[in-house]
Amino acid sequence: MGSFFEDSRELRQEIIDTCLQLTKLGLCIATWGNISVRLKEGMLITPSRMEYDAMRPEDMVVVSLEGKTLAGDRLPSSETALHRALLKRRPDIAVLLHSHAPYASALACAHRSLPIFVEDMAQIIGDTINCTAYVPGGRHQDLADAACSVIGDVSMAVLLANHGVIAGGSSLQEALTATLVLEKAAFIQATMGDSIKSIPADQVEEERHRYLYKYGKE
Ligand code: 13P
Ligand code: ZN
Repeated sequence: MGSFFEDSRELRQEIIDTCLQLTKLGLCIATWGNISVRLKEGMLITPSRMEYDAMRPEDMVVVSLEGKTLAGDRLPSSETALHRALLKRRPDIAVLLHSHAPYASALACAHRSLPIFVEDMAQIIGDTINCTAYVPGGRHQDLADAACSVIGDVSMAVLLANHGVIAGGSSLQEALTATLVLEKAAFIQATMGDSIKSIPADQVEEERHRYLYKYGKE
């Protein structure tokens, strides 16, 4: 089991601040994006279809990993099933950030998976970013199942066909960084195409290990 967070007003405000940053960075338009944070029991998740600049800490919803609303008056994100399923599938992930980031979405529209070809990708994503099969909008459980079937045991992100991306981390900052690193990689893929050379798998594994256990620590 990985880490989890204590529910607090500060944490809820940090989630809102991350949503606002997403908009500022051009990774989210309007209300298309959502964030979940693992708690000891269930998760905190952003409310559905609510403008980020109107969100207050009390608007966050606590939902169990089985889907029961435990606290909060708002409707939880329409992608709650996706967040629940991935948090269950990957105990090492504590925070998930779903966005419709432009370059990542472009690749998702082409149903392209992204191999690891930049060092920061190796460190923070750790393995190929697979793309799901197409799932029609509104079939939230089917999207959750599709994402779980392609994420694997290591990669911190999945492309959602014809939709967007979901990226994870051990903290809000790390999930945001993973989203930015993926967006940069998607830009490189879109501009350089077939001339890109991937990083060998053993080197990707080594870099991920270095990031997790050594980088900045020794
Ligand atoms: P919510 O506003 O319900 O979180 O949904 C936005 C979205 O991106 C749906 O895929
Ligand atoms: Zn979405």
